[in-house]
This record gives sequence, structure tokens and C-alpha cells, in this order.
Amino acid sequence: MGKAKLLLGTTNRGKVAELAEMLADLDIDVLSLDQLGPFTEVEETGTTFAENARLKALAYASHFHMPTIADDSGFEVEALDWRPGIHSARYGGDAAPTFAQKIEMLLNEMKASGSNSNAARFRCSVAFAAQDGEIVAETEGIVRGKVTDRPRGTNGFGYDPIFIPEGLSSTFAELSSAEKGHLSHRGRALLQIIPYLRTFFRSLT
Ligand code: IMP
Repeated sequence: MGKAKLLLGTTNRGKVAELAEMLADLDIDVLSLDQLGPFTEVEETGTTFAENARLKALAYASHFHMPTIADDSGFEVEALDWRPGIHSARYGGDAAPTFAQKIEMLLNEMKASGSNSNAARFRCSVAFAAQDGEIVAETEGIVRGKVTDRPRGTNGFGYDPIFIPEGLSSTFAELSSAEKGHLSHRGRALLQIIPYLRTFFRSLT
């Protein structure tokens, strides 16, 4: 029999490599969606990160008949009543297609809000579904911090250039991917799901 497989409901190879490394001692194959041929992306119709993570994990697990983990994440800004949240990827719509434009729009919206708070946080929900389409575990990771006046740094993606995590003076975009991985919302949510993955895959052998 071949190795047990775990599907990560994403096409991001970086996320897959990171998780495979965390689970190296389990001797399982961690796969990403693009390694499995054509699929229809699941619509994120939920109203929370947790709901969207669950939707994706269940849909991909049932479709590919494989244990699957999926995540959903976003950026929350206090001055904007904690938006854009689950709409982070679409923030600004057609008027702001690039992240440079989204960031500019967000900084302008913060100024116009009249709030003097620069508090913000990234949030990530992770769901783990078994191949029979049942949720085994769900976790959440949060990293709190503040929004800068202007973008700094070129690493990472999305809102990284304007976010400084609590306790540091660099933005996420000024950190290496390993440094960010340790304290990020996604890293924290994945770290919590690992014990469930270990129990699940140990019980198969
Ligand atoms: P998802 O891929 O549906 O989870 O949407 C994530 C969206 O939230 C991204 O498109 C970014 O806008 C934002 N986001 C989530 N995590 C991060 C991060 O680590 N850095 C910067 N932006 C992020």
C-alpha cells in the first residue's frame, strides 16, 4: 500500500511545502489541488472564515475522497469596524484590482473614518475533513498588531506591507517567510490542527 495522502485545499505550493515539513515524521504525502487535475473552485458563500474553511474542506474531501484541510483568512481593521474581513481578497472591487491599490484605498478609508485607532489583526480559520465528508477538527489563528502610515517591505503578499505584528517594529513584508510563518495567523491555526492530523493518521496505520 502507498503512503496515506492529505490534501491541502489550495493551489499554493508554498503552503503545501510548509505543512509537509511540519508533518515530516508522519510519512504521509501532502498534496495540493493543482496536483490532482481539473476541479471547480468552491464558492466562498459563508459569512465567517470558519464557515468558508469548512465549506472548502468538505467539498474537496468529498470530491477527491481524501482527508483534506482548507483555510480561509483575511485582514480586519478596527477603524473600519473590522472590515474587510472575509472580503479581503475582493476589497475595493474593480476600482482596486492590485494590492498596491487596495492598500492605498484602505489607508484612505482609515483616514476618512475619523477613528484614531490603527489596531488591526489577521485571522485564519482551518478546517480538517475526513474523506467521508465529516469535519474532524477546526482551529483559528489570530495575530494582532497595527497598520502603518505607508507600505514598507517587499516580501509576502496582500496586506503584509502595512501590518506590524505586536511586539515587533517590522511589517510582515519586511520579515522572511520563516519569521512570518512562526507568528502568522495561518501558522498559528495550522500548528493547532497538527495534533488532530497526527491522531488521525496514526489511527490508520
Ligand atoms: P483566502 O485566500 O480566501 O484565505 O483570502 C485571503 C485574503 O486575505 C488574501 O487575498 C489577502 O487579501 C488577505 N490575507 C490573508 N492572509 C494574509 C497574509 O498573511 N498577508 C497578507 N494578506 C493576507
